[in-house]
Amino acid sequence: MYNGLEVKLLAITPDSENLVEKAGRLCYASGDKQGTNENWISARVKQGHESLIEHASATFYIKASRALTHELVRHRIASYSQRSQRYVRELQADYITPPEFEDKNSEAAKIFHESMSAAWSSYRKLLDAGMKPEIARYVLPNACMTEIICTWNFREIRHILKLRTSPAALPEIREVAHKIADIMKEQAPKVFGDL
Ligand SMILES: Cc1cc2nc3c(=O)[nH]c(=O)nc-3n(C[C@H](O)[C@H](O)[C@H](O)COP(=O)(O)OP(=O)(O)OC[C@H]3O[C@@H](n4cnc5c(N)ncnc54)[C@H](O)[C@@H]3O)c2cc1C
Repeated sequence: MYNGLEVKLLAITPDSENLVEKAGRLCYASGDKQGTNENWISARVKQGHESLIEHASATFYIKASRALTHELVRHRIASYSQRSQRYVRELQADYITPPEFEDKNSEAAKIFHESMSAAWSSYRKLLDAGMKPEIARYVLPNACMTEIICTWNFREIRHILKLRTSPAALPEIREVAHKIADIMKEQAPKVFGDL
């Protein structure tokens, strides 16, 4: 578990599954059958008729490390707004601690926390020396906490979940992806239930 991680659903297309089905039914002129088959949407998704689920989208607030958001924003079919390190002074040493460093008595944890303290100490000294935050931030670590608001359509969310819940993915992003998956399975089970 990554302490400090946060994932919150901020907004979602209202009645999203109804909208997805309406778009799909239009393709086959079967609007009169809207809502008659519980498995209709999941069958379309399974078949690869995924443009239908692009009509619905969701917006998430995510608090995580810069290491994570650097990977997340590689997903291009999206809209992002991220806390700026150019305009915001990161005066507090606010960072994500990977579980590997949680045992405070371990040698690795000591190295990690000392390097965080040293980074923020250098950052504050650079600001005191007259550097702008956009320059001083060059000494801040990947672990630095950040906040981002992400909007993706359902097709892109499915794509992200497949890639980022995989054991090959970064553990922190995997945890975020699992939290998003839990939320989406509750919000739109016909679209996300198979993941
Ligand atoms: C385990 C793992 C390891 C990774 N390691 C690295 C690494 O070492 N270095 C690195 O640079 N990246 C790495 N990545 C990032 C990866 O290469 C992708 O940039 C990232 O996952 C975004 O995925 P995407 O391009 O499929 O999708 P998105 O940007 O989410 O796009 C969704 C889909 O739209 C289509 N699409 C989008 N844009 C285009 C386009 N321009 N042309 C054609 N089709 C498009 C594709 O079908 C794509 O799958 C890694 C990702 C994972 C999951």
